[in-house]
Amino acid sequence: MAIKIIKESGQKKAIYFKHCNRCGCEFEFSMEDVKSTFDDQREGYVVLYVPCPHCGDTTGVEKKPIRYE
Ligand SMILES: [Zn+2]
Repeated sequence: MAIKIIKESGQKKAIYFKHCNRCGCEFEFSMEDVKSTFDDQREGYVVLYVPCPHCGDTTGVEKKPIRYE
C-alpha cells in the first residue's frame, strides 16, 4: 500500500542554491523556478535546470536543498 499526500499541511518550501559558471552570479531558487528536471539514474540524483536570472544561461544543478522556508 502506498500513501500519497495530495497537499502538505504547512509544508515548508525547499530552497536550492546555484552558482552560475557563465557569469559568476549566485542565486537561490525553488522548484517553481525550475524549467525542467532530469533524473540521473546512473549518478543517483536528480538534476534541476534553472535559468540564471542574470545571464539566462540554463545549466543543471544537483537537487539538494540548502534550507527550507
Ligand atoms: Zn549567469
